[in-house]
Amino acid sequence: MTQTATGKLPTQTDQHDLAAENRALRARMAYLLEQAERNHSIMTRHQAFDLEIVGASNFPELIGTIFRVLPVISELDSVTLTLIDEDADIRTVMLKLDVVFEDFPDLIFVETLDELGFDLGRRNAYSPTPKPQLGMFDRQRHAEPFPNAPAGLQSVALVPLLRNKRIIGSLNLGSCDPTRFTPSLGTDFIEHMASIIAICLENVISNEMLKYIGLTDSLTGVYNRRYIDRRLLEEIARARRQQYPISFMYIDIDHFKRVNDTVGHGGGDEVLREVAGRIKNELRTSDALARFGGEEFVVLLIDANLESAAFVAERIRASVAGSMIALSLELQLSVTVSIGVACLEVGTAEGEPDAIARALIERADDLLYYAKEHGRNRVVSTRED
Ligand code: GH3
Ligand code: MG
Ligand code: MG
Repeated sequence: MTQTATGKLPTQTDQHDLAAENRALRARMAYLLEQAERNHSIMTRHQAFDLEIVGASNFPELIGTIFRVLPVISELDSVTLTLIDEDADIRTVMLKLDVVFEDFPDLIFVETLDELGFDLGRRNAYSPTPKPQLGMFDRQRHAEPFPNAPAGLQSVALVPLLRNKRIIGSLNLGSCDPTRFTPSLGTDFIEHMASIIAICLENVISNEMLKYIGLTDSLTGVYNRRYIDRRLLEEIARARRQQYPISFMYIDIDHFKRVNDTVGHGGGDEVLREVAGRIKNELRTSDALARFGGEEFVVLLIDANLESAAFVAERIRASVAGSMIALSLELQLSVTVSIGVACLEVGTAEGEPDAIARALIERADDLLYYAKEHGRNRVVSTRED
């Protein structure tokens, strides 16, 4: 029989107390164990999340992963992301790289740091960076970070995204639990998470910028030759698999030397930009326009036969010739283009894509030469001789 600490035999009341204490301790143990397991599972899920976002190879993949995975592993009812995008550089480049922003309604862009609403007044030597802001959700005050706030959102955390002490945006977390984000809560964990997200964002954005710079022509903003060479090979393979024709246009500005002689090299550059814009206006989004060099442009048309490509080429020719290009109020000039159009019909693309691409470009170039010989300002898609 058990004895009490005083050496006396336990009374019934003592035994009862002990049993109750035992039960309470067991319950406490079970609770602590459960907490430890839960924390462990949260840590594991977060490690998996970190690995996934670190591995994201482009902007949509990264943003998509954050929006898809973070609410689940962190048991959040809303996750949004605000990025500072002065001069809309990020948006411009992403659009050029075919990012569909409508796919990410919780991705918000602001022009300036002030619009993030962090308390920057407290930035000093002791508090060099703003802290996350935790508190009750206020539909009016938080309208910007939570444009699509779900019903019942109660507490939120606005976490600055920092890179080298520079704020690049904010990660906005929302919960329907009013006690989830309170001002007294420790923020180490969410700050750590935000720092990893910030690194990934910065990496992916600069990679996309580099990709963009490497694939575009800096003068006109259209694609460059490297892009079209690569894209053409991909499209030849795809057209062969999916059995549709692709067409290729070679466009050359007529007597461009004279343009330069008349309006100078700077004026000539302006003409190149305007011509690129007019060509672009006549194309579908699936078509690709590139400056091949000098005053030469090429267009790759997906799922277009010779007839429809020649029709588009004629529209381009007419648009360039149709109205003068104004370099200033006093200085306007007429410019024309000649265009050669070639098509890769279904069933004709046998052999190596490389050789097929070269033959297609050569054919369009040859027809362009023919257009030049026969008076310029014209489209040639078949030779009559
Ligand atoms: P054609 O009708 O036979 O095509 O005559 P063209 O004068 O256009 O022929 P050519 O291809 O010989 O001349 C192209 C000119 O384009 C020569 C070059 O000075 C000019 N050029 C090439 N690149 C640029 C550029 O980036 N900016 C400007 N302004 N001119 C350029
Ligand atoms: Mg030329
Ligand atoms: Mg020319």
